[in-house]
Amino acid sequence: MKFINYINESYERQFESDIKQYYKEVRMILPVLPKNIDIYFKSNGIAHGMNTGGYAYSPKIISIAISPNNTDINSVRKDLKATFFHEAYHIAHNYTGATGPFSLLECAIQEGAATIFEQEYTDSKSKDLYGNFGQHPTSLLKEWLEQIKTIKNAKQMSTKDNNSITFYDETDNIRWKLYKTGTWLVNQYISKNNIDIKDFTNKDVRLLINSLK
Ligand SMILES: [Zn+2]
Repeated sequence: MKFINYINESYERQFESDIKQYYKEVRMILPVLPKNIDIYFKSNGIAHGMNTGGYAYSPKIISIAISPNNTDINSVRKDLKATFFHEAYHIAHNYTGATGPFSLLECAIQEGAATIFEQEYTDSKSKDLYGNFGQHPTSLLKEWLEQIKTIKNAKQMSTKDNNSITFYDETDNIRWKLYKTGTWLVNQYISKNNIDIKDFTNKDVRLLINSLK
């Protein structure tokens, strides 16, 4: 594993051995992961309510942002592990910035699956954040699902529209509609079909999509 970019080098270096250890652990759960990946520290994209953010940039590169403002290093580590497992899951399912294009529904399913994976295998706060679909009535989740289904290529969305559905919608102050809808869908699918979330990486998301019809 190589660390190919830093933002706050001395701060980020203290997490390198943790990240190596997390990769060892997640690769034991998801053996399809490559032996080596590179880590690119970036400054933006820290998830609301978290100390970290991540992006599966390509099949061999995970970008990670770590907030330099929290002095409670153990709580930073906890978020880092959850984020890192989430991004590694994306790579295992070949859902990265360098693959696709994906429909917005595929994006929702991939985000939901990675969110459930980080909840299952790490001490993740996402249950109260982007995985908290249960805070909304099912009728609303269904509405978001219909909205999501209309976008055939997520890469063609404007940044503004993408941010509204993915992170924060200013019109109703609701966060993470895409993640919550996806977590709701994947949660139903794996329980109905008795699939462990780690084995969902072997499944074509179109199976889930077809089950909605
Ligand atoms: Zn994700």
